[in-house]
Amino acid sequence: MDKNRVVVIGGGIAGIQASLDLADRGYEVHVVEKSPSIGGHMAQLDKTFPTNDCSLCILSPKMISCADHDNVVLHTYSELDSVDGAYPDFKVRIREKARFINTDRCTACGDCIAKCPVKVPSEFEEGLSKRKAIYLPFPQAVPRKVTIDKDHCRMLTKEKCGVCKKICQAGAIDYEQEDRIVELSASAVVVANGFDLMDATSMPQFGLGICKDVITSIQFERILSASGPTNGHLQRPSDATEPRNLGFVQCVGSRDAKTHNYCSSVCCMYATKESILAREHAPDVDIAIFYMDMRATGKGFQEFVSRAKETYGVRYIRSRPAKIQPANGDSGVLMSYETRGLDGESKTEEFDMMVLCPALLPSGDNARLAEMLGVELDDDGFFRTPDLIHPVDTTGRGILVCGFASGPIDIPDSVSQASAVAARAAELIEGGELR
Ligand SMILES: Cc1cc2nc3c(=O)[nH]c(=O)nc-3n(C[C@H](O)[C@H](O)[C@H](O)COP(=O)(O)OP(=O)(O)OC[C@H]3O[C@@H](n4cnc5c(N)ncnc54)[C@H](O)[C@@H]3O)c2cc1C
Repeated sequence: MDKNRVVVIGGGIAGIQASLDLADRGYEVHVVEKSPSIGGHMAQLDKTFPTNDCSLCILSPKMISCADHDNVVLHTYSELDSVDGAYPDFKVRIREKARFINTDRCTACGDCIAKCPVKVPSEFEEGLSKRKAIYLPFPQAVPRKVTIDKDHCRMLTKEKCGVCKKICQAGAIDYEQEDRIVELSASAVVVANGFDLMDATSMPQFGLGICKDVITSIQFERILSASGPTNGHLQRPSDATEPRNLGFVQCVGSRDAKTHNYCSSVCCMYATKESILAREHAPDVDIAIFYMDMRATGKGFQEFVSRAKETYGVRYIRSRPAKIQPANGDSGVLMSYETRGLDGESKTEEFDMMVLCPALLPSGDNARLAEMLGVELDDDGFFRTPDLIHPVDTTGRGILVCGFASGPIDIPDSVSQASAVAARAAELIEGGELR
């Protein structure tokens, strides 16, 4: 058995950092990422708190280093099929889903994308713009290879079309391609499969899907992004005009006994970040953040909130929203809320646009993955870590966890955990007694 191989599940910032650290230590790392590109949610962010650094400027070099590293094998558009055996000899089967593309030939020239007649909502742009049935998920995608979406391609669904094959000069289109199974042995497995956003349409009182100008925080990241659907112009969806005022609603489905009890941990800070950025895009926009408690506990976080209040005039309103409903026909919203404290009162305010911060959930695959790996999840559905002094262990020996897979956590802490995972895996593989 190859003693120095590690499988990393998830190619977000946590999985990328763990893979780079493990690969630098000389281990052969296999990254299994279910989407066509590595990058995870960080690739969708415009800037990152509390420094407001450009997210992709930090992430892109790491994505490229990961793909180019001699000790890293990327299995994108792939999932774990099964895991058998036990530490230190896991038998792992990886399913590489058919992209219907010969990736050795594809140059991502874009000719096929330009000619493809089918448009569907873009997952990367959170449905705010469309992509083609043959697509690159985003311009900085790694690997830079196109994928055919078999559920929407006319050739694969109805055997009509074939335009991409006709146009592709590299001969990379392969409609007959099938899934491929890769089998390997590994000494350790790292779970880094991140989070999903709660579908806030399940809480109709917040107006998502009812009011055109209610959107989610991740959609707002895309609106702020220069490479996003509005080219970075702050526009509301109903009529593409710049909002005069804008609200953020925290804890939509988080810290709520009826939905998800826990705190999603990053929303106080990213709403503050998105407010500052919105003011930088549109200096006259009035911004209110409706919050339960301000949780600004990291390095420089409280100062970041103070800057939003004092320099950018962001109003922080301690309250619970009661209802968000349409204001005037298709545009704007009416927000009813109750303020907190001794002088608590019910109020209604009109906004041009409203941004919801939905609960950040354990990845939908966790139950299946936990069963496959023979480890426990915690009461909220994240991977259980056995105790406070083993923060990157799971309940299974040789199976480690980092990033949002272990619970709500921001990017700097995900990176620290990822490096801790690499050290812990080395400790295991080198045969040291674990304490
Ligand atoms: C709107 C918003 C703004 C934010 N802004 C900031 C910010 O400014 N600063 C900050 O520090 N944090 C911010 N965060 C939090 C940040 O996004 C997370 O801390 C970070 O993405 C966690 O990284 P991760 O790798 O653990 O998870 P993810 O980014 O979720 O990556 C997980 C990866 O695993 C893949 N995956 C999932 N399931 C499987 C599976 N079964 N098999 C294979 N692959 C799988 C996914 O496709 C994904 O690529 C923000 C979050 C949101 C929602």
